[in-house]
Amino acid sequence: MTTPTPFTARRPFAGTRASSLRLTPADAPKDTHHQVISLAGSGIAYRPGDSLGVWPRNADPLVDAILARLGATGGEPVLSGAHGTLPFRDALARSFDLAIVSRRLLDACAAQGAAPFAALLEKGAEDSLKRYLRGWDDVHDVLDVLNDAPDARFAPEDFVGLLRPLQPRLYSIASSQRAHPDEAHLLVLSLVYTSRGRRHLGVASTFVNERWPLGTPAPIYIQDAQKHFALPADPATPMIMIGPGTGVAPFRGFLEEREITGATGRNWLFFGEQSRAWGYYYEAELTAWERRGLVRIDLAFSRDQPHKIYVQHRMRERAREVYAWLEEGAEVFICGDKARMAADVQRELQAIVELEGGRTADQAVEYISKLRREKRLKLDVY
Ligand SMILES: Cc1cc2nc3c(=O)[nH]c(=O)nc-3n(C[C@H](O)[C@H](O)[C@H](O)COP(=O)(O)OP(=O)(O)OC[C@H]3O[C@@H](n4cnc5c(N)ncnc54)[C@H](O)[C@@H]3O)c2cc1C
Repeated sequence: MTTPTPFTARRPFAGTRASSLRLTPADAPKDTHHQVISLAGSGIAYRPGDSLGVWPRNADPLVDAILARLGATGGEPVLSGAHGTLPFRDALARSFDLAIVSRRLLDACAAQGAAPFAALLEKGAEDSLKRYLRGWDDVHDVLDVLNDAPDARFAPEDFVGLLRPLQPRLYSIASSQRAHPDEAHLLVLSLVYTSRGRRHLGVASTFVNERWPLGTPAPIYIQDAQKHFALPADPATPMIMIGPGTGVAPFRGFLEEREITGATGRNWLFFGEQSRAWGYYYEAELTAWERRGLVRIDLAFSRDQPHKIYVQHRMRERAREVYAWLEEGAEVFICGDKARMAADVQRELQAIVELEGGRTADQAVEYISKLRREKRLKLDVY
């Protein structure tokens, strides 16, 4: 199980999407799927905590709209990085990121008279340019930029030189290979948002959930996370796992592994979503494990009551026990949202150490830093 995988991002394996299950009902505000990717024939070995890298394809309607805007047929041969020469349509679908805009594309549009971009590129506008390129104020993709530069014309081979190469996306593996030798399971939330009156699709999440036909291959590889997100080396070590939303994915793998290996360490999961009605992912399995005594679970469904309740609030309610687990040597794992959750949870841990450990703020900061240094506080956030 520990042989390094021969496949990498640059030399991926053709994994097959074997089956899938939409976990959220059609009327839920989020669209989250359980995906089973077949690794059969690959010899790939992964460990709990690792991620699966997926090379996605852009959605055909977006590719078609860009071809139409450029007046191209799609058959024009273009140089396409690692793929060599490809027809323009395939290059747009497989090789280039159409969601994230490059500065080169703005330069080229401005050079053809697109006034809004010329202003962004002026000296002194660096901050606005940065905000624009990162999509902080207003999300826009390559098609939006072309539409904002209606007079700009590009030959296909020049146009691809203005695009960023498409990158693979990572998904936490939600299974243990001991339980599913030829499979990697994923929990994928489709990123879909409306901007400028048009539906923008997250390239990889909607590829995996919607555009990767069952039974067909796509390029995948394992991203080793053992340096920062491995299960405790000692199976008797207690674990506190904090993973709201899709952050629960690796913990399903951890629990499968700990059950199958008979690990004696206690397990505690803090999970949350917006609503229990649609958002308790893996409820049947998690509650079965809970009944069997494998895991203790605390839940936080933020919008099921007038005031928001998040995982860190549940941790506060259980502060004494959380602290006791820490003092007993528990390892703490945090997975999921980087922007807010991971920081809130670490602040809460610090508050718990102050409150229950009778420590000053500085001592609590040092306590948490020590957990980090000793690799007892592990994060996989995105
Ligand atoms: C180690 C790791 C593990 C991960 N595990 C999982 C997992 O288990 N499950 C999972 O679903 N994801 C996981 N992710 C996230 C995943 O890799 C992708 O980042 C995610 O699916 C979005 O990729 P995409 O290609 O669909 O979207 P992209 O095409 O990359 O689009 C994302 C961009 O769209 C914009 N955007 C996104 N949402 C909005 C919005 N609401 N409004 C406006 N703009 C927006 C932002 O500019 C953002 O940068 C993980 C990431 C890492 C690094």
